[in-house]
Amino acid sequence: MNNDMKEFLESEYIFWGDEDSNEEKTRKTVFSFGGGVDSTGMLFEFDRRGFMPDILIFADTGGERPDIYAHISKLNKWLFDKWGKEIIIVRQAETLYDECIRRETLPALALGFHTCSQKHKIRPIANWLRENGHTHIVKIIGYDANEFDRARRGLTSVENGKNTEEYKINMKLWFPLIEWNKSRKELKKNINEIGFCASKSSCFYCPAMGEGEVRQLKEYYPDLYEKAIAMEKGSKLSNTKGLGRSWSWEGKMKQDELFSLGDMKGVESCGCLNW
Ligand code: SF4
Repeated sequence: MNNDMKEFLESEYIFWGDEDSNEEKTRKTVFSFGGGVDSTGMLFEFDRRGFMPDILIFADTGGERPDIYAHISKLNKWLFDKWGKEIIIVRQAETLYDECIRRETLPALALGFHTCSQKHKIRPIANWLRENGHTHIVKIIGYDANEFDRARRGLTSVENGKNTEEYKINMKLWFPLIEWNKSRKELKKNINEIGFCASKSSCFYCPAMGEGEVRQLKEYYPDLYEKAIAMEKGSKLSNTKGLGRSWSWEGKMKQDELFSLGDMKGVESCGCLNW
């Protein structure tokens, strides 16, 4: 075991599913639902183990693809029928897309910052928790068994009090998929066996999308693709070439058309803190 892993396991901010002290029992379990494969797989894994967190909550940037919204609606029906619960959906008053258009800019990730997810993912959830008096919690995050580095970064930010959005919330972090050693591949298989089909969730204009994902968007959701291009064209940022950061989505897709290039590979994680 390396030092990083040892420190992670010993951190006072990490929660393990078998913790049984009276202090831990008073914490609300809050499942930060991301909408994609890991979150969906974790939901079904909780169900299989006969447990469902107190609160399930999804922060909607307003920019998910229609298949993700349809997936959440279907899951909510399943959850309600089986557990009498639903995923609570929270959002900022202005969508991230509208904000970028109004300010003639791109999501902060185009410049290498995560403030778009902090403002549109973490903030609305933290606001909802404070407004509803849930300030002593276990925050459940669906990083899979191969995402230890992301979990460690998330822990470091809580330990150092860096996440200013979550002020006044006393939290421990629980990474059940790491604890249960569940890989994304295994989760996908389980999801399909239950009769659901989950895919990666992100804003349809996310700068972390690879070329293959942009091509998929253009083919399956041409209207959303055009909206993303309108955002890119309207941006006044001078230190980035476009939504691809070092490349322009529109330029790349035009190249495809001219030279008949392009494949649909390249699905990557965007690095959102809650994903
Ligand atoms: S999905 Fe991408 S654009 Fe949307 S909030 Fe997350 S990092 Fe920002």
